[in-house]
Amino acid sequence: MRVLFATSEAYPLIKTGGLADVSGALPKAISQLPNFSGDIKILLPAYSAVLAKLQSIHVIANISVLGQACTLIAGKMPDSDMTVIAIKNAELFERTGGPYSDENGVDWPDNPLRFGVLSRVASLLCSTSTPIKDWLPDLIHCNDWQTGLTPAYMKLLDNSQTKSIFSIHNIAFQGCFDANWIEQLDLPAAHFQMNGFEYFKQLSFLKAGLFYADQLCTVSPTYAQEIQTTQFGFGLEGLLQTRTADLTGIVNGIDAQEWNPATDVHLPKHYSNARITGKHTVKHALQQQLGLTIDANSPLLGVVSRLTHQKGLDLLPDIMPKLVEAGCQFAILGSGEKKLEASFNALAERYPEQISMNTGYHEHLSHNIMAGSDLFIMPSRFEPCGLNQLYGLAYGTPPVVTATGGLADSVCDTTDLSLKNNIATGFVVKSVTSASLLVTIRHAITVWQDKKTWRKIQKNGMTRDISWASSANAYLDCYKKAIERELA
Ligand code: ADP
Repeated sequence: MRVLFATSEAYPLIKTGGLADVSGALPKAISQLPNFSGDIKILLPAYSAVLAKLQSIHVIANISVLGQACTLIAGKMPDSDMTVIAIKNAELFERTGGPYSDENGVDWPDNPLRFGVLSRVASLLCSTSTPIKDWLPDLIHCNDWQTGLTPAYMKLLDNSQTKSIFSIHNIAFQGCFDANWIEQLDLPAAHFQMNGFEYFKQLSFLKAGLFYADQLCTVSPTYAQEIQTTQFGFGLEGLLQTRTADLTGIVNGIDAQEWNPATDVHLPKHYSNARITGKHTVKHALQQQLGLTIDANSPLLGVVSRLTHQKGLDLLPDIMPKLVEAGCQFAILGSGEKKLEASFNALAERYPEQISMNTGYHEHLSHNIMAGSDLFIMPSRFEPCGLNQLYGLAYGTPPVVTATGGLADSVCDTTDLSLKNNIATGFVVKSVTSASLLVTIRHAITVWQDKKTWRKIQKNGMTRDISWASSANAYLDCYKKAIERELA
């Protein structure tokens, strides 16, 4: 089986969020399955960071798509044997800033062209005109709106025989643009309609993916249900209801090479469920590093997140003074909404020895917060899968979550019954309000003080199988299903 995995980010080459973690780990995990015989290659734009990190680079073809001269280069991931094909076009992709926006967080105005090029190249590699000899994929796995036009190009322009799977990592990001882009993107105007890539008079990359792909995936079973409702579907629930038989929800795993407290290169001390004491050393070091009072008896609450409405962290500032006065500390890492950053900064100034606020993107600190905290706070309003709660489970840092999407599928609330059945792994907030979050955190802290019960909850999380292997198997089943449908 030949699989092309098209994505706009993949760890460790380039990362802005969970999509990169999945793109870095899933292809690797599938290729390592004993029942997979085949070859997976990742396709992504050659941003400067990608060019700097990709190993053994060589040119495979020079092509022109959508009027843009591109060089396809191939290389290896820095941490594995995985082959990456990168689309090099300095003007489009080698910019100072992020993959989607400039240094001030403003989206690049030519994003439709940039990700149109990614989608067009992906489709070309699945067509008989592919510039890569002897490597026509049986299946392409497209991810999020940035690759959404691929299935449309495959069906409408390339008459591709390759099967397509489109994965939704977050339906809130839809890639909607002015209809004027249609011509420059070589899209047939006749399909700018409800049964096509039109979405409320705009061109929608995401809708194109959902409409034209053969199979659909998303990142948890609960989210697969939720996005078929008006509350969570962001206007695409109707289309998804018509495709319910083609839609599968699979919870992400975690990359144990990156996220394992027993081997994590970022930690000052390693630990495991069997030898948990190292976790106390990490907490001590974290308190010291962040200028917090060094106190093992102070519950340390961790946050690592994009600071957006989705993540529900605006519920936190109101209740933090109460929790600090009750003895809690906070280690916060995140950036996003300036107002929320300012609230956390103001609280950190008011309580410098109890609250640490860190903006920017820091891989090293994120690992140390995950390991050094006692509780991980994640009260999302919606959460397709979420990775941080999974890291929390693996690191003996029980998560406090809302019951939505992948959070509902991966965290089991602590109750008398779940404790008795050895399945309690965290704490579930009953409603998305500050008051409810406060009640749940207070309950969690009461349980934390009972060290024996706490160890049980940590153990339940730390011994759960959240590796990619079982999720990778579920994806492989989807791949096989899509390909077998072609043969039927
Ligand atoms: P999302 O993809 O919606 O942002 P996820 O929980 O699925 O949320 O994944 C977030 C990923 O990004 C995790 O690996 C998390 O550790 C990381 N992350 C988020 N914000 C930061 C930050 N400021 N610094 C370092 N890592 C971060």
